[in-house]
Amino acid sequence: MLIERIEIEQVEPCFADETKIRLIARIPVDVSDLLPYLNAVLANATYVGEGGGKEKDGEEGEAPTYASDRPALTFTRGPRLVTVYPRRVTIAKADDVADAEEVLAWLAERLNHVHERRGEIEPVYEGKIKIKPLDIYGLLPQTNCRECGEQGCLAFALLLLQEKHRLRDCPPLFREERWRGKRERLEEVVDSLGLQK
Ligand code: SF4
Repeated sequence: MLIERIEIEQVEPCFADETKIRLIARIPVDVSDLLPYLNAVLANATYVGEGGGKEKDGEEGEAPTYASDRPALTFTRGPRLVTVYPRRVTIAKADDVADAEEVLAWLAERLNHVHERRGEIEPVYEGKIKIKPLDIYGLLPQTNCRECGEQGCLAFALLLLQEKHRLRDCPPLFREERWRGKRERLEEVVDSLGLQK
């Protein structure tokens, strides 16, 4: 196993919401080479290669960052904003330390996964388009059956991205074999976005 644990080093209140925390954690090995592979398996990540991208990090509400650290990969996991640098991770808008620890454990597992399977993964060296409601809609049954309690699948897709529904609130996806392929893809997307299945 490449990474056993990612340890938290520094915790502060979030700038924008003092009920949340932002923090820095240390990765025990340099993961520069793995970031394009992690980018490939996460649905909503933005990769900034060495010498490229933003001139300045750390917008309001974000975790403290290191502009000199490149490459970097940024993504959201639920409401949390996560940036992975070669030897550090910053998380903003985490609920508390326990919440951040869960994200770090998940990240360690994802990094180990791409490390072990990088021969099978095509690395991606650029930012990807953010997932939109229509992307989710395309993976739903599109029958507008209303079993989820909404007017139709597009409304459900919008509310899923807003964390007002979980995937399981669409019963046909899990009940009907014909939607299995869509459900499996949606589970991957939902997991990479940090939303509830
Ligand atoms: S239950 Fe699923 S298939 Fe039916 S309207 Fe809601 S999202 Fe669409």
